[in-house]
Amino acid sequence: MTNTRLVAAVGAWLAVVSAAALHAQQAPPDLILSNGKIVTVDDRFTIAQAVAVRGDRIVAVGTNAEISRLAGATTRRIDLGGRTVTPGLIDNHMHLLRGATTWMRELRFDGVESRKKAIDLIQARAKAEGSGAWVFNIGGWAHQQFADDPKPFTREELDRIAPDNPVALQESYYQVFLNSKGLHEFGIEANAPDPKDFVAGSIMRDPSGKPTGVIKGDIAATRPVAARLPKVAPEQLEASSLQLVKDMNRAGLTSFGVAGCNADVLEIFQKWKAQDRLPVRVFCIGGAAAGTPEQVDRSVQQIGQMKLFQGDRYIDNVFFGESVYTPLHDPMFALKSDPKPDQLALWRKMAMEIAKAGLPLHVHAELHNTIDAFLDQIEAVNKEYPIRDLRWTLAHINQINMAQLERMKKLGMYAAVHPWAVINGGIMHEGFGEGAYDMPPLATIQSSGIVWGLGTDATAANQYLPFTTLYFAVTGKMPGGMKVIRQTISREDALIAHTRKNAFFVFQENQLGSIQPGKLADLVVLDRDYLTIPADQIKDIRPVMTMVGGRVVHDSGTLNSTK
Ligand SMILES: [Zn+2]
Repeated sequence: MTNTRLVAAVGAWLAVVSAAALHAQQAPPDLILSNGKIVTVDDRFTIAQAVAVRGDRIVAVGTNAEISRLAGATTRRIDLGGRTVTPGLIDNHMHLLRGATTWMRELRFDGVESRKKAIDLIQARAKAEGSGAWVFNIGGWAHQQFADDPKPFTREELDRIAPDNPVALQESYYQVFLNSKGLHEFGIEANAPDPKDFVAGSIMRDPSGKPTGVIKGDIAATRPVAARLPKVAPEQLEASSLQLVKDMNRAGLTSFGVAGCNADVLEIFQKWKAQDRLPVRVFCIGGAAAGTPEQVDRSVQQIGQMKLFQGDRYIDNVFFGESVYTPLHDPMFALKSDPKPDQLALWRKMAMEIAKAGLPLHVHAELHNTIDAFLDQIEAVNKEYPIRDLRWTLAHINQINMAQLERMKKLGMYAAVHPWAVINGGIMHEGFGEGAYDMPPLATIQSSGIVWGLGTDATAANQYLPFTTLYFAVTGKMPGGMKVIRQTISREDALIAHTRKNAFFVFQENQLGSIQPGKLADLVVLDRDYLTIPADQIKDIRPVMTMVGGRVVHDSGTLNSTK
C-alpha cells in the first residue's frame, strides 16, 4: 500500500466513523470480511484490509483493527486469509436471458484453451445425453483459442468423436461445424437442395456436392442452425436459468446490462426476486426497433409510451436498444458498411423520437462508417432535443477512432466497449489484416477521457468470463495466448471499466461498482491477486466466493467462517 492510499483509506474511514456517529445505536454489522486485500475501486483506487456488511449494504471499509471494533455478538466473520476482494463484476451488455433458453443443453467452450479438452468434453456430453441426442453449442468460442491445436473441426472428425449423436458446434457467429448425423437431422444431403430456411450459399459442399459439415456466412447464416437446435423444455427453463446464473456468479459476475429481456425467463427472475433469491441484477436494454419504413411509423408511436426505471435494484428497464433501425445493424464480420441516406433518415426519425421522449439509448454500432453516420444523425437530433443528460451510448464500437470519440464527448455520449476479438481475434485478423490490431483501440478509448465500460456481448458473439476479458484488455491476447490487439491498458483501468464505470451503464453508479460504505454489498473474493500475478494468469483467476446484496451466491468452501 502506498502512503497516498493509506491516507485515503484512513480518510474514508474517518468519514464513515463520523457518519456512523450520527446514527447512534446502530446494530453491529452482520458480517465482517477481514485479513484481505480489498481492492475497493473507489475514485482513488484505495486498498483496504477489511469490510463490514449489514443487511444488503457495505457499512464500513478500513483496516482489520478498525473494522473488528464494529463487531457485535452476532456478527459473522470471514477470514480472507490474505485474498484479494474486488467489487462484483458488471457486464454492461450481455444477452443473458436469451442464454437461459438453451444453457442447460449447451456444451460451452468458454475459456477452454485445449482442443483435446474440447474433444473430451464432446465425448463426455454425448455419453451423458445418450445416443441420438444433440450435442451442441451456440457460440462463445472460436478454434483459435485452442493453444494445442488451433484448427477447425471437420465432419469426419466429429463423426469419429461422436458417432451416435448429432453434433453442431457454432464458432461465435462465424460458422457452424456439423457431423453427418447433424447434417442429416437438418435434411442437408449430398443429392438434395438446401433446406429453404438456410441462407443461399451458406452450406459448404465439396466439388462432388457432398456437404462438408460447415455452415458459414455471419449471423444470418448461423441463425437458422440455432433456430433448429433444441431449446430447453418449458418445464426445464427454471433449471436452465438457475444453471446459467450460477455459472455467472462462479465467474464473478453480479450485474448485467441485458440486451433483450426474454419475457419467459424474466418471469422466473421476478419470481426469484420475490423470494429474495435472485443472485444477479438485471438491467434491460429493449424497445421497439423497426426493420421497415412502415415499422418506423409504428415504432414512433410506441416510443412516447415507453416507460423506463419502473423497477428496482434487481430488475429494471434502463435503455432503448440495442437496435434502432435494423437494416443499419452492422453484421459481425462485415469489413465495411455503407449506410444509405434513406436508411439514415429513418434511423434519425426514430432517434429524434427517442430523444424527444427523454429516453436513454444504447445502440449497436461497430464499423467506422456506421459510427460516423450515426454521429451525424445524433448531432442533428441534438440540435432539436439535447441528449447530454440522456446517457446515449454507442455499443461494441470495435472500429472507433479518436476523432469519433471526440465527437461523442462533445455530444455528452458514452462508450460501451465489447471486444469481440476476445474470441474472434483470429477471424478478424483474416478479414481486417493489420487493422485488426486496433479493434478495439483500448488505449485510445482510455486516453480520450470518455466514460467507457467493458462488456462481452456474450453468450453467442463472445465468451462470458470477465477475467478472460480483463486478461485480453491487459495483454492483448485471446484465450490460448494468440496476440490479437496491440492497444492494451493497465490492470487498474481494465478493472475500473468492468466495475465502477459499468455501474454507470446500468444507472447504478450510486449503488454498485465499488466497495464503499453505503453501496450495495456486491463483491468477489479471488483465489489470487489480480493486481500482482503475472498478466498471463489473469484469465485463470477463479472467484472463491461471490456476494450479491450481502448474500453469498457462490462459495467454493475454501474460506473460514466463524460467529
Ligand atoms: Zn449488438
